[in-house]
Amino acid sequence: SANRKFHPQDTVVDIRGRKLGGGHFQVAAGPCSVENREQILTVADQVKAAGAGLLRGGAFKPRTSPYAFQGLGGEGIELLKEARERTGLPIVTEIMNISHLDLFEDVDVIQVGARNMQNFELLKELGHVDKPILLKRGLANTLEELLMSAEYIMSGGNEQVILCERGIRTFETSTRNTLDISAVPMLKKKSHLPVVIDPSHAAGLTWMVEPLSMAAIAAGADGLIIEVHNCPEKALSDGAQSLRPAQFSEIMDKVKKTVDFF
Ligand code: PEP
Ligand code: MN
Repeated sequence: SANRKFHPQDTVVDIRGRKLGGGHFQVAAGPCSVENREQILTVADQVKAAGAGLLRGGAFKPRTSPYAFQGLGGEGIELLKEARERTGLPIVTEIMNISHLDLFEDVDVIQVGARNMQNFELLKELGHVDKPILLKRGLANTLEELLMSAEYIMSGGNEQVILCERGIRTFETSTRNTLDISAVPMLKKKSHLPVVIDPSHAAGLTWMVEPLSMAAIAAGADGLIIEVHNCPEKALSDGAQSLRPAQFSEIMDKVKKTVDFF
């Protein structure tokens, strides 16, 4: 169970030898979408140089419009593996359909996106997978619902769940979503699972990624997941919230001064 009552100690998730939770901090960084070989290899090198511990990148993308770029699919996962080979960074990527599970066999962390947080049949299947699952909070879901979705995965036998707050829908329109910073202390009180913050999707604005990252650390988050692109103005998805590698590097310098995770 995700409930701290039954498991007082913090869960430490092991991602190819990199620990997350229980005092171990990790930063996952990379593009919203894997777009091509040069893009993902370039960004992977740059986020690694800045000090990221994990590489993120979407291969199957949950886009609002069916006419928008849908991701490279299996080819995107192959490119992520090549980037891992080159940098040593474990890879995090989103699954949308359980029929694609074979393609994720060599992926290090499987992401369940906000839009699938209550895809219960998907969650049940991931309960039988032996790898960490990054479970993102739905756009309009309560923390209790997020924890129940974690239970769906854990009750199937997979206890390696990482919770992610990525902002929720509110009446506020000046940011893409509203970062619920209180999710961090509340989830950590109720659960022993690691909690990470995604300031990129919460803000939807590059300039706000740094203050939200620092707020996440102050609130006690176990990690961050941040979008970085080598050329944000040409990004096929989420360019407005994607940092240039140099901007990411500056944030990492501040993060490294604030939290000891090496
Ligand atoms: C993403 O990580 O690119 C993504 C689609 O996130 P979310 O599911 O939180 O919207
Ligand atoms: Mn994105």
